[in-house]
Parts: sequence; structure tokens; C-alpha cells
Amino acid sequence: SNDEEKTEDYLFKIVLVGDSGVGKSNLLARFARDEFYPNSKSTIGVEFQTQKMDINGKEVKAQIWDTAGQERFRAVTSAYYRGAVGALLVYDISRRLTFDSIDRWLNELHTHSDMNIVMILVGNKSDLKDAREVTTAEGTALAEAQGLFFMETSALDSSNVAAAFQTVVKEIYNILS
Ligand code: GDP
Ligand code: MG
Repeated sequence: SNDEEKTEDYLFKIVLVGDSGVGKSNLLARFARDEFYPNSKSTIGVEFQTQKMDINGKEVKAQIWDTAGQERFRAVTSAYYRGAVGALLVYDISRRLTFDSIDRWLNELHTHSDMNIVMILVGNKSDLKDAREVTTAEGTALAEAQGLFFMETSALDSSNVAAAFQTVVKEIYNILS
């Protein structure tokens, strides 16, 4: 029936990766609940959060996975990546070391996930203008070299947070539909 067509289900698993402290949990909190934690500890991480989104008039569910802090021990398991069709590779624009780590996270994704996974490079904490250590041009260049989407975000002031998740989900939807 028409009703069944309308409720056709899309469920996309999206993973957040990147060094500890870059703002992964807060990006998810901002996107899914419009919340921000100024002094968050890794314990706020949920395993995953499912968010309904509207893509071209279709309801799509993004199941967004957060690491809950295990990235500190380089112990993100293959189960975390399994079945992921999208990924946000997050660094902190005010900490160059987190940008340097992106190569390692890319390797992790290439090792543990599907070839066709849709990835966006996310330079978070764009509100920290005076503390910036990574230029926008450097982010753009890395994204172009690796074939990733790119956006700078701020979980604190909300800028581009929804746009970053939507970019990934829209692209997955376009590929699969
Ligand atoms: P995670 O370890 O990658 O999950 O990082 P968290 O989400 O726990 O954030 C680490 C710290 O950075 C916390 O103190 C957050 O309040 C802070 N933080 C996260 N996102 C932003 C942001 O966009 N701007 C600023 N200024 N701080 C942020
Ligand atoms: Mg976290």
C-alpha cells in the first residue's frame, strides 16, 4: 500500500572517529539533542544514538556511533566499524596533533570498513579562532587529496554541525537509492 511505501526504512550506521578530546561526543550531543557539555568527560559517550532525518522528503534514520573514550587506548574495536556506511573524521582546529592523526584514522577506516564508506573530514572547534593551529586551507587540501568531504564545525556555537551529518547521510542516500 501507499502507507508502506511512505514508511520505507533507511537506517544508516555512521561512526565518529578522531583523537580523544576533539569533540566527537559533543558533536553528537549537539546534533541529536541540541546539548553541549563544557567540561565533558569520556563517560558522557553513549554507544550510539539514532536520529531521524529528512532527505529529499524521505525519512532516513542515522544511527550514529560514538567511541565512549576507548580511542585514548587505541582500542577501537572492529565491531565499532562493522556495517558503517558513513564516517566523520574529526580533528580539533586548535590542536595540530589531532590533525596529524587523521591519516591513522583513515587507515583504521580503510582496514575495518567497506570501500564505499562515505567520509567527511571535520575540523571542530571553529569558535576557537585565537587558538587556531590548523588553517582552513590545510583541511581543504587534505580532504581533496583523500577524496573526503570537508567542513569546519563548532559543537559549542552549533555552526555546521547539522550540515556535516547531513552531507554524509545525503551522499549515502544518493549512492543507495
Ligand atoms: P571527544 O573525546 O572527542 O568525545 O570530545 P568531547 O566531546 O568530550 O569534547 C572534549 C572537550 O572539548 C570538552 O571539554 C568539550 O566541551 C570541548 N568541545 C567540544 N566541542 C567543542 C567546540 O566546538 N568548541 C569548543 N570551544 N569546545 C568544544
Ligand atoms: Mg567522547
